Amino acid sequence: MGEARRREELRKIGALPPQQPGRGQTIKVDLTHAKQIRCKCGGKVFLPGGVTLFSVSAIVSPTGQDLIANKPCAYCAKCFEPMGPDTTTIDGQEEAKTQ
Ligand SMILES: [Zn+2]
Repeated sequence: MGEARRREELRKIGALPPQQPGRGQTIKVDLTHAKQIRCKCGGKVFLPGGVTLFSVSAIVSPTGQDLIANKPCAYCAKCFEPMGPDTTTIDGQEEAKTQ
């Protein structure tokens, strides 16, 4: 506890940069005015722990060899589509498009 208080004091006087949340830390966000992300199928629940795979050509690969890269993602609990810009919509945007 003493260390945390000391760091807080140092932060106040500008000796330390503002605290940034690291891995495993949670930050509180007010979701009252946030828009909920939905899958194209209408699903609003996403499961973490999926990966999307990318085949990387030797031309652009950092190792100079063909490789498979993976990117962590969440996937829709309803239709199992991986969550991404082309598979998700944001509440409120659809209504705006139709007007
Ligand atoms: Zn879905």
